[in-house]
Amino acid sequence: MKVTIKQWNAVAAWRWDMPEDDMCGICRNPYDSTCTACKFPGDECPLLMGECNHSFHMHCIVKWIRQESSQDKCPMCRQVFKAKDAVGHAG
Ligand SMILES: [Zn+2]
Ligand SMILES: [Zn+2]
Ligand SMILES: [Zn+2]
Repeated sequence: MKVTIKQWNAVAAWRWDMPEDDMCGICRNPYDSTCTACKFPGDECPLLMGECNHSFHMHCIVKWIRQESSQDKCPMCRQVFKAKDAVGHAG
């Protein structure tokens, strides 16, 4: 199979201290891409938004919350993470 990349937006300046943008704060892959565990974007790897309005790949936040050290807190703002809604199919 031959994969043709039609659009390649190279990110020239990439810094660790970038404010949360349109990428997952855990794996730092873009929201429209997948988490590091998945290969194909789509319903298999949905986004999950917390009540703090931070969103992550569902797989990322689930993995994060399972770590004892996370204490169920959002890695971005340190509030207790509660899922608000699945992002995607709404309006
Ligand atoms: Zn992620
Ligand atoms: Zn995933
Ligand atoms: Zn948060």
